[in-house]
Amino acid sequence: MNFEYLLYMIPGLLLSLFAQAKVKSAYSKWSQVRNYHNLTGMDTAEQLKPRVGLENVKVTRTKGTLTDHYDPRNDTLALSQGVADQPSVAAMAITAHELGHAMQDKTSYGPMRLRSAIVPLVSFGSNIGIFMVMIGVVLSMANLAMIGVILFSSTAVFSLITLPVELDASKRARQMLDQTGLVANEEERKGVKQVLDAAAWTYVAGLATSILQLLYYISVAGRASGRRR
Ligand SMILES: [Zn+2]
Repeated sequence: MNFEYLLYMIPGLLLSLFAQAKVKSAYSKWSQVRNYHNLTGMDTAEQLKPRVGLENVKVTRTKGTLTDHYDPRNDTLALSQGVADQPSVAAMAITAHELGHAMQDKTSYGPMRLRSAIVPLVSFGSNIGIFMVMIGVVLSMANLAMIGVILFSSTAVFSLITLPVELDASKRARQMLDQTGLVANEEERKGVKQVLDAAAWTYVAGLATSILQLLYYISVAGRASGRRR
């Protein structure tokens, strides 16, 4: 690791720390607040599924804290223990957010499909891309370095698409909870919003980090042409 790389990474790192702090404070606050209907994450999923046409979604438990996710490959919603079994405002918000992803999957929401489609390109491009930039710089092959940058840029594209996917899942979550009446009052509505907004910051930080990383490799690749002169 070198000093220039650190300079590029610091803003993203600070933003990530800020996002983590926001998530932690929102979750620790609202996971202590019981929701009006006394529903755990499991109960919330049971209540919401038939009312929003997601009967096909299977709900399981997964280890860890805030490890909740939806897997479109097998239509499975995995809830972390704190979410699955605690009747809190946070559990309700997080479960609804993951069901938001299930709904995106069901309705073939464009950005989600695009994100899944570019996963192979991203896993290839992130590793090979950096390698090509480095080789390009060492051998003063500007074109090779530039192709490396283009391949690596797929990671920033991925983060860029992730943002609307996540914001949309949270929007769907809030609509679901409102329309089905699971959110009983303003206080709960506020709690749900705080939990989901905090989570969104994580993806903003992820996007900033991958853009800064891309800028760093663009600057490195620039040296491949610089050396030749
Ligand atoms: Zn999500």
